[in-house]
Amino acid sequence: MDRKCEQCKKDFSITEIERSLSEKIGVELSTVCSDCLARQHLAFWLFGKFRKIKSDLSGEGLITVLPEKNRYPIYSLKEWHSDVWEGLDYGIDYDREEPFFDQLQKLQEKVPHPHQNGINNTNCDYCDDVWSSKNCYLSRSMEDCEDLICSYRNIKVKNSIDNVIGFSSEKCYSCLNCINSYGLSYSQHTKDSIDSHFLFDCRNCQNCFMCWNLRGKSFCIENVQYTKEEYKDKIKSFNLGSYSAVELLKERFEDVLKNNAIHKLNFNIKAYNSTGDNLLNVNNCYNCNTCSDSEDCVNCLRAIKDKSNLNANGCWHSELLGNCQGCVNSYNLKYCNWSSSRFSEYLDLCLECEYCFGCVGLKKKKYCILNKQYEKDEYEKLKEKIISDMKERGEYGKFLPYSMSPGPFNFSTAYLYYPNTTKEEILSFDGYWEDIDESHIEGMSTNELPDNIFEVNDEICKQAFICPETGWRFNIAPNELIFYKQNNIPLPRKHFDVRIKDLVKYSTVLKSSPYNCYYCKKEIEAYYPKEWGYKNIACEECYMRNLN
Ligand SMILES: [Zn+2]
Ligand SMILES: [Zn+2]
Repeated sequence: MDRKCEQCKKDFSITEIERSLSEKIGVELSTVCSDCLARQHLAFWLFGKFRKIKSDLSGEGLITVLPEKNRYPIYSLKEWHSDVWEGLDYGIDYDREEPFFDQLQKLQEKVPHPHQNGINNTNCDYCDDVWSSKNCYLSRSMEDCEDLICSYRNIKVKNSIDNVIGFSSEKCYSCLNCINSYGLSYSQHTKDSIDSHFLFDCRNCQNCFMCWNLRGKSFCIENVQYTKEEYKDKIKSFNLGSYSAVELLKERFEDVLKNNAIHKLNFNIKAYNSTGDNLLNVNNCYNCNTCSDSEDCVNCLRAIKDKSNLNANGCWHSELLGNCQGCVNSYNLKYCNWSSSRFSEYLDLCLECEYCFGCVGLKKKKYCILNKQYEKDEYEKLKEKIISDMKERGEYGKFLPYSMSPGPFNFSTAYLYYPNTTKEEILSFDGYWEDIDESHIEGMSTNELPDNIFEVNDEICKQAFICPETGWRFNIAPNELIFYKQNNIPLPRKHFDVRIKDLVKYSTVLKSSPYNCYYCKKEIEAYYPKEWGYKNIACEECYMRNLN
């Protein structure tokens, strides 16, 4: 079935699997392609700058990634979850004369929203999307972490800085997708390794430097074996505490990734009858990315433990979701955002609700429409009436409009996955964009920083720096400086969010490109954009035979 995407105007087709899944869920077939829909969903997931605001309820000072000016009242997370306010107090009557989305947005703009996402943390104020963590700073999306600074998407990671997509690791610096490791820096896709730098796809390695695809080695440099003494001498000569020396080593590492390393066509593990990338333990999942322990899902990004979801992005532990964003512990939701509910449509931030339609910020409610309580029969009748009005206006079946997103697109997760999106495009969808003029901001240029970490004294923590790429101001925190000194790492020159984006771009590739397998030469589809210049890409079978 072919359609023209309402947003990008490109033709796209609805597969038979999508059609039958949409019937099972009871969700309308999308009028926009899965890419445009994922982009719209992720626009509701902020990746904003950390800033100070005040609770609109108590005036308490808060740290948030929300925009400077919000369209709705912001309460502290604790206040939001408390009984001091009630969502039904904001209820409105449905008005047939007005588009439903306009009414829903008016309601959304009256209902309080929380300043932060996450629970059970100690001393993690400058964080977002943080769960059961301790002493973390300027970090986002993590669980069970401790002493984590300037990091993104970590689980069980301790005492690390600039760490992106880390699991069960400690003392890591500027690493991407490293698992069960200790003392790694500047490494990618490495497992079970210790005290090493610039590793790519290594496993069970110790004291290795600038190596790729190694298994169970020690004292290797550029995949050449040295004795322990030789290795130690050579490592000293690399001068790792020097910024200029490390910049040259980073260039060499890029060269290794392009010309030496063998790359597996995707990062799938135990993905049966499935298509996509970064799939772990999934069955019958199509066009999915970063999904684990899921089955029968189509067009899903960032999914965990999901079943039979269609176009559900950032949804966890859920079943039968259609066209939803950020919903967890949910069952049969449609067109919902940041909710944890069942049998409902068009919810924003509703917890433990059932049979609700077009509600915002409700908790444990049933048969509500626009935050107003109805009897079961009335609810069903009014819901049908609204759906038929929405169909007449061409609203029904669409996700919440960009105008209901929480902030600027260029400070959302969507911008990480779709960085080529333009301001004009987003404004044409009634979305938001923030142009920051930081030219007035005062601070020291990072060019003036000492080259070697040994030349840096503690006074540096009082100094503000200006990122050469964005003009944004940043500081070096005292515990950050201690980490750099202890681990012989030069001071960073760029703002922490820029450092994170530089790493995360390697794991936000949603489209495959055609290659020939490095070993058997057969045609394969691999998740590396051609412009990365990776030469050696292996098919699943050849990678397993040669490198597993
Ligand atoms: Zn499209
Ligand atoms: Zn092959």
